[in-house]
Amino acid sequence: MAFHTRLRLIALAALLSSTLPALAAAHWEYAGHQGAVHWGELDASFAECASGHQQSPIDIVATERSALPALNFRYGSAAPTIWNNGHTVQVNLPAGNTLEVGDQRYELLQFHFHTPSEEHIRGKSSPMVAHFVHKNAAGELGVVAVLIRVGRPNAALEPLFRHLPRAGERIIVDDLSLDLAGVLPKSLGYYDFSGSLTTPPCSEGVHWMVLKEPVTLSSRQIDAFRRLVGENARPVQPLNARVIRESE
Ligand SMILES: [Zn+2]
Repeated sequence: MAFHTRLRLIALAALLSSTLPALAAAHWEYAGHQGAVHWGELDASFAECASGHQQSPIDIVATERSALPALNFRYGSAAPTIWNNGHTVQVNLPAGNTLEVGDQRYELLQFHFHTPSEEHIRGKSSPMVAHFVHKNAAGELGVVAVLIRVGRPNAALEPLFRHLPRAGERIIVDDLSLDLAGVLPKSLGYYDFSGSLTTPPCSEGVHWMVLKEPVTLSSRQIDAFRRLVGENARPVQPLNARVIRESE
């Protein structure tokens, strides 16, 4: 019994420490009174959601062709912790998967999904998007968006979609190893711009890289996520003075 109790306490402590920042700030949703158009009013720490001028997501329409540095993904296989935080399913990863772009070196922290895609390309969303969230040594975030359309099931993501946790659940699946590189498309051309987190507190200074080539998931995989989480896309935000660069 004592052994069981200790295990439960450790789990509770881990849960508390990981949810404390969320508890300290206001609850938010995608629709209704706590929905995206109200985020800026819900909490003082969310002010940038309303007052920012470099907010994400955006509709990618006019671009400038540029000699952008190549995206060098050094992704391997990793044992994830899969967390349904009530807003998305987030796949937390141990250190060791990196992205090098120009003189920047980013470490992959986690990836998660939105349905439909938050980013629009010339006015159109995709059924889904995966956001790969990285951080560099200076603490700056670099997010790679991989658009997802309906097609063949994605073998690299199949094990994940077989183990989608319910809201509030955080699971580790024994022997589950995700082939992260297998999630990426073949062609790594991309759009590049600065933006923000797409969830409160909507902090700016995020380096966005949206891959031009989508990957596919089966409609069953996409439906499984949508049933579990519902629509979780922030509406597109004004571009303002930003320039979207597009790799050649
Ligand atoms: Zn996201």
